[in-house]
Amino acid sequence: MGKKSIPAGALAGTAKGGIMRQLQVPEPYKVVIGKIPEIEPAENEVQVEIAYCGICGSDVHAYKGKHPFVPTPAYPGHEGSGIVLKLGKGAEKTGLKVGDRVTFEPNLNCGTCYNCRKGLYNICLNLKVMGCQMTERTKGMMADKFVAPANKVVKIPKDMSLKKAAMTEPLAVGLHAVRRSGIKVGDHVVVLGAGTIGLSCLQFAKLAGANVLMSADFLPSRLEVAKKLGATHVVDLSKEKGVAEYLAKNPQIMGEEGVDIVFECVGVEGSMNESIKITRKGGTIMVLGVFGDEVNHFNAAWVQDREFNILGSLMYTWRDITDTVDAIYKNKVNVDAMITNVVDLDDGAKGFEMLDKQAKDNIKILVKVSGKE
Ligand SMILES: [Zn+2]
Ligand SMILES: [Zn+2]
Repeated sequence: MGKKSIPAGALAGTAKGGIMRQLQVPEPYKVVIGKIPEIEPAENEVQVEIAYCGICGSDVHAYKGKHPFVPTPAYPGHEGSGIVLKLGKGAEKTGLKVGDRVTFEPNLNCGTCYNCRKGLYNICLNLKVMGCQMTERTKGMMADKFVAPANKVVKIPKDMSLKKAAMTEPLAVGLHAVRRSGIKVGDHVVVLGAGTIGLSCLQFAKLAGANVLMSADFLPSRLEVAKKLGATHVVDLSKEKGVAEYLAKNPQIMGEEGVDIVFECVGVEGSMNESIKITRKGGTIMVLGVFGDEVNHFNAAWVQDREFNILGSLMYTWRDITDTVDAIYKNKVNVDAMITNVVDLDDGAKGFEMLDKQAKDNIKILVKVSGKE
């Protein structure tokens, strides 16, 4: 440990005393636990003792050196939870106090661009994400302590589990997309992909009143979780040719109404075209998958002829986050079923390796930092 870590001097921040651990990816496929000086909160900032932090698919992309916007050295972690340790000057104006249990809204928006001024700050033209794009003072949350702008720190109920709270961010991605989809009570919904984001969409689509709720994936273990979380039907793509073929063989499932909304949570060409094949005329395709490769073959003729609404969804805004906290706290969504492994911060490398090599056995892996419940 430490020998291949990024030197402390390379990091911004005021070193006052303590040394802390920080998970770092100095180069692709390498995870080290560096020792760096603790960073004190500046004006309007809060220092949080991290309890848990989820490993996101985007963190794994960065680990593999394949994230288009996150080069190495990387300092991953944006799905954290913890306890407020220190408030910088002025941070108390947000109502936060030392000892508060919190999670984060990790999108750092500029506040001055056109979209920010219009209120669409999740699509800020200068958007940065904590733990993804390094900023002077904000690195990743897979560390003993993390400093964030106070207005991005979200207070959670006193008796809410910090382990569950670390699931807020990915769940909020699903909630934002479900809201944007314009879903209505009784709708017939297909969710392509049963990873963390697919399962988040599934659960909020159910809460929003979806009547028929189908989940499709290549991994049967994930479909078992999807059933537990409310899928009325599952399609095992390791056995079936595709969702379109499956629906053609079983027309009674969607009936004459057809599929109102497809949530595309995979991010490959095949699943984009599958969405086009299965959506009813006038239906909606909500694109959440992160496409690593370009889509070369895309049936635009059907988009026009069937008057589809194709929408994208990026991150969330404050209300999506606070409503997600509420849904987790009140057990309206099940996050425990999505957490397949927990690794200690010192074994952080193992978590990344598992998500890379044993994806079939894993959905969400949490890094346990302080482990405070
Ligand atoms: Zn994430
Ligand atoms: Zn902006």
